[in-house]
Amino acid sequence: QHLNQQNLASIDNQISKPSFNRSMLKTGMVHIGVGGFHRAHQAYYLQELATKTNQYDWGLCGIGLREEDRNISTILKKQDQLYSLLIKHPNGTIEPHIIGAIVDYKFAIEDPQSVIDKLAHEDTKIVSLTITEGGYNFNPSTGEFDFENSIIQEELKHPKNPKSVYGFLAAALQKRRDNKLPAFTILSCDNIEHNGDVTKKMLLAFTQKLNPELADWIEKEVRFPNSMVDRITPVTTAEDISFLAKNHDLIDDWPVTCEPFIQWVIEDKFSNGRPALEQVGVQFVPDVKPYEKMKLRLLNAGHSVLGILGAIHGYQTINECIDDPLFNTFLKQFMDKEATPVLDAVKGIDLDTYKQSLLDRFANPNIKDSVSRICSESAAKLPKFLIPTIKENLDNDGNIALSTLVIAAWCFYSDKQTDLNNKPLEVIDSQKVVLQNSAQIAPLSFIQQKAIFGDLSKSERFTSLYEVMAKELYNNRGVKKQMQKLV
Ligand code: NAD
Repeated sequence: QHLNQQNLASIDNQISKPSFNRSMLKTGMVHIGVGGFHRAHQAYYLQELATKTNQYDWGLCGIGLREEDRNISTILKKQDQLYSLLIKHPNGTIEPHIIGAIVDYKFAIEDPQSVIDKLAHEDTKIVSLTITEGGYNFNPSTGEFDFENSIIQEELKHPKNPKSVYGFLAAALQKRRDNKLPAFTILSCDNIEHNGDVTKKMLLAFTQKLNPELADWIEKEVRFPNSMVDRITPVTTAEDISFLAKNHDLIDDWPVTCEPFIQWVIEDKFSNGRPALEQVGVQFVPDVKPYEKMKLRLLNAGHSVLGILGAIHGYQTINECIDDPLFNTFLKQFMDKEATPVLDAVKGIDLDTYKQSLLDRFANPNIKDSVSRICSESAAKLPKFLIPTIKENLDNDGNIALSTLVIAAWCFYSDKQTDLNNKPLEVIDSQKVVLQNSAQIAPLSFIQQKAIFGDLSKSERFTSLYEVMAKELYNNRGVKKQMQKLV
């Protein structure tokens, strides 16, 4: 059977289904960037809320701003915004859920006005975002808004014709202000340190140029809570789709898979009300920074460490990497000797337990998270996840060798785009050409890219170590030999 509202009642009862009346859900939350992660995380929490508390104000409307969202837009429409979430346990069990918390979807490429109207609707209390690290439009080395972006330049000339997330947010907030409606909260759920503060700074920079009065109103009225999100959500595979067809006679064109672990920590500051998500396990805290730093520097950086070294060694998945005792030890030592010494204490969290849980989660053989997904957009990720750890350790005379090997491996990866046995790698990065060009000049040029590394190459200690490591990799001495030397 095809997944849609009409068939819901007759779909296999082994699948958990929405028990609430979807037609009564108001779209209190509008979400921009309905990728896999949003569907595994925020939508899952809101489904739990509707199921357990019978509150009907907090359904979701999804929004896609880019051509790449056409597919999800078409599929969700066909399926009445329903989709399956497959929670994959380490023992091989797969727990299927049908998620019904999304009840509407707007695709900006086809109907931009409907997006503005939805955002400006009085039911919309929160606008949440997962637009990837690259979607925030800041220059990674200066942290300032990138006005060079041609889309932004176009929008500033034609504000009635928005294209970027900032253009749409500004147009909608202007409309709310004109209609004397309260502002919404903007809740970033991307893996960016101080994601709310960054969103605020970028939106204010954009609106200052557009209309300073609007910028002042936003500064006064809109809250941007920082948040820390966690649930490993790999890219959906053809096997996931056929699993549902074979085992549950269900045709879902785009299910999502994820691990059982889920976490959301949010600063409790909202402009216009919020769902009682604490009733379904979300933590509201006064300051999220120590939690997010811990997660970005251990989980996300740990993923990049495994992904980049694993890619050039020739591994395909994260669990394959962690099953290799050398990678396992390397990761543990990276976390203990380089990442942890520059972390702050995190209230209520035992770091040793947290690190062990990461090793267990990475090892989930059922998740098969691809190294290509983990390595994607490294140019946006590493300046947040890994490079600050190196810089802080340099300032404190701490260890840097393990992280430095990852940077040398990343140079090789960007340059050759093959593993060490010359097998081509799938490199996904909006900076792919820039990265390759600089790496091809010389490994030193790679780390002199200021937008990514800032002035890291000025450190004699880092640069000399890096150059030796890069040379060894280029002489094809094998990444494992070098890892072995360091652990
Ligand atoms: P995805 O590729 O499935 O979806 C990405 C979404 O972001 C798409 O809707 C896309 O259109 C949108 N997007 C990309 N660039 C944009 C831009 N410039 N402007 C507006 N929208 C843009 O990816 P995903 O797995 O859903 O991950 C999205 C983000 O969620 C990650 O980048 C990360 O910050 C966060 N996250 C993901 C995971 C995970 O395990 N997948 C875990 C924690 C956090």
